[in-house]
Parts: sequence; structure tokens; C-alpha cells
Amino acid sequence: MMPRHLQGIGMTSQRTRDRMVKRLIEQGISNKRVLDVMRTTPRHIFVDEALSSRAYEDTALPIGYNQTISQPYIVAKMTELLLENRESLHHVLEIGTGCGYQSAILARLVENVFSVERILPLQKKAQVSTQLLKLKNIRYLHEDGGWGWAEFAPYDGILVAASPDEVPQALLEQLAIGGVMVIPVDDGHGNQALQRITRTEETFDVEELEPVSFVPFLAGKE
Ligand code: SAH
Repeated sequence: MMPRHLQGIGMTSQRTRDRMVKRLIEQGISNKRVLDVMRTTPRHIFVDEALSSRAYEDTALPIGYNQTISQPYIVAKMTELLLENRESLHHVLEIGTGCGYQSAILARLVENVFSVERILPLQKKAQVSTQLLKLKNIRYLHEDGGWGWAEFAPYDGILVAASPDEVPQALLEQLAIGGVMVIPVDDGHGNQALQRITRTEETFDVEELEPVSFVPFLAGKE
């Protein structure tokens, strides 16, 4: 049960979250664990209070610094793709903490989340929000996620929330054999597609999934 002060009222209430989940099911999300976690994780605490009444709409919303919180469908879809056919994940690397909503969803489904963000103030806020939810299995790093996070590699899951033209080599190297990376890749002309990359003993299997629209994957940190 969620503490009362995080539960929300009116447009941030449990009923509003239930409606969001009903929509996710209509959109094709079927993983029960993902749906349950999205039903019981407050999304409104991750956006500015002025936007909280819109937190459960199926849309990306601004979180400052020219960045957005991903729309609920995309968070659900990427999480579902990461978990598909796998009981448990131990080490998951997330590139692009943003406001921390996706980190919170992951933290409730996997053992450990390692989240890298290039914009420090965003990551600081994310840390406060996930602490409010008492999630203790997320570690944060302020860095260009193009380098991954070698210290805790290999990862059995990698989720990338910004769109590069090419999959960064370090991320491929830090993916465990049998591990899965979900990443929106741009064709260089602004057309992005979600890819799921599975590392096998010999190679990387790439599945190209649906078209998506993410903020660009940028180099360096600020
Ligand atoms: N999952 C986040 C999505 C945030 S948007 C959420 O639900 O809020 C994508 C984030 O990726 C932005 O915060 C952006 O600053 C970050 N980002 C872009 N390029 C990056 C890089 N090279 N390394 C780390 N983070 C990056």
C-alpha cells in the first residue's frame, strides 16, 4: 500500500492510475508485473506540481533542461521488452535517468538498477523522488552514458532512454551474454526505431521493433 501522502487525489488518485493501466492494456501491454508496478507507483511526484494533473496522460511532459519524462506507454513497453521471457534480472543499467520515473519502475522489478545521467540537477531531483518512494536499490552516476558504467558490468539488462545514431560500443561490451538491451536508434535522418539487442555467445541479435520519438543521446556531461 502506498503511503497516503504519495497516493494523490483527483487527477493524481489511484483511480487515475487505474485508468492509465487500462489504457496500457488496450495499447498491448500484457506483462502483469509491469502493469501492477505502474498501477502502484505514483507518477505525479516525478513532475512539477503545476503539471501533476497531467502526469497520467499518455504523453511525454517537460521536466526542465529541455528534457521530457517518457510517456507511460513507452516506459511500460521498454520494461516489458527487457523482462520478456526472463524471471529475474540482477544488474540493470539505465542510460538517461531524467526525472527517475523509469528508474523507479525498474527498481521494483529487478534486483539492482544503475542509472547514468549527463545533467546533474535532473539526477539530483530523481534521487529525491526515488528516496521518497523508499527505493534503495538504485545507484546513480553523473556521466556521459556513452561510456556505460564499467564498475558494475556486465549487465543482464540495459535500457537507453535517449536516441543515438549508433549503439555505443561500451554498452555492447558491458552487456552480459544472454543479456538484453532496449534502445531507440536513429537512422541519422530523425527516424528512430526501438531495437532490442540480445547478446549471444557469438554475436548480437538485433530485433527492430516500433517507431519511437526520444530526445537525442548527447555526448559529455553538464
Ligand atoms: N526515463 C526518463 C527519460 C528521460 S529523457 C524519464 O522517465 O524521465 C532522456 C534523458 O537522457 C534526459 O534526461 C537526458 O539528459 C539523458 N541523456 C541524453 N544523452 C545522454 C547520455 N549520453 N548520457 C546520459 N544521459 C543522457
